[in-house]
Amino acid sequence: MTVLEVKHLKKSFGSIEAVRDISFSVNAGEVFTIIGPNGAGKTTTLEMIEGLVPPDQGEIRFQDLTWDKDAVAIKKKIGVQPQSSAMFDLLTPKENLDLFATFYDQPKSTEEILELINLTEHRNNLVKQLSGGQRQRLAIGLAMISNPEILFLDEPTTGLDPQARRNIWDIILQLKSLGKTIILTTHYMEEAEKLSDRVCIVDQGNIVTLDSPSSLIEKLTKEREVSLSFHDEKTTIEAEHFSKNLDSVIRTEREDTTLKLWTMKPEDSLHDLFQFTKENDYHVEQVSIREMSLEDVFIAYTGKEWRD
Ligand code: ATP
Repeated sequence: MTVLEVKHLKKSFGSIEAVRDISFSVNAGEVFTIIGPNGAGKTTTLEMIEGLVPPDQGEIRFQDLTWDKDAVAIKKKIGVQPQSSAMFDLLTPKENLDLFATFYDQPKSTEEILELINLTEHRNNLVKQLSGGQRQRLAIGLAMISNPEILFLDEPTTGLDPQARRNIWDIILQLKSLGKTIILTTHYMEEAEKLSDRVCIVDQGNIVTLDSPSSLIEKLTKEREVSLSFHDEKTTIEAEHFSKNLDSVIRTEREDTTLKLWTMKPEDSLHDLFQFTKENDYHVEQVSIREMSLEDVFIAYTGKEWRD
């Protein structure tokens, strides 16, 4: 069942086209993740869906509800993780949750949320004394207090250490097992790969690809990365020039004496390359063929390195 559908969303800030044309739908109970390079338009997209920023064009539907007609009903359905600045530092997690609970008709119990976000032990400490990870867990708890069906988490693990990040992953998976729909943005590829049912890669305000992590990787694994090292740069440049003209080679990259090429047919490409190096008496020092990850999918589609 589709719980959210966005069609042809567009948003500009002056001359900056933050979101050019974004359409997708989200199914009940899935973790749907939006990833993309800096400034790709992820936050603007989320903020339009959350009703915080009006789109210039396009449609946003939560089943039959739209922001212009049904804002109150949509607000009951969705939970948005607040930025940590929206919490009260001089209150405790319990007091923050109790306060947020007063905003809603049928909030979840504070104790239940504290348990879910694993803060029961720290319920009576001041928020300003919490670690970054604990604050982020509280932010998720605050988004959950209204017991929403759909939860928006904008980079919930940015800046956290690996253990704190994993603790948040556990909470996200627990929420999923409770049947919540989660729309997530992240800077961490491993996170997207581990948590998501589907990943949408956004670049320059457009969706460049959308599928399950395994399908995205599978599509790309038809393409293999082959790496060759030569003993000098001149040979490497010539080998790159030769590879670029091979039909099987999709793209190449060179750094010092290492040549990387992406090919649909590694055997054919290597056969042709070895023939070339033999004919020219060039010595190949090392050869390897690498498995692909979601990070490779990202780079292949956006042409940009993943930042971490
Ligand atoms: P990041 O990963 O860095 O958070 P993002 O993918 O979330 O980036 P957005 O924050 O949506 O990207 O920004 C998209 C573009 O729109 C950027 O060029 C950004 O500078 C611009 N932008 C976003 N909000 C505003 C605003 N309120 N006024 C002007 N420009 C904005």
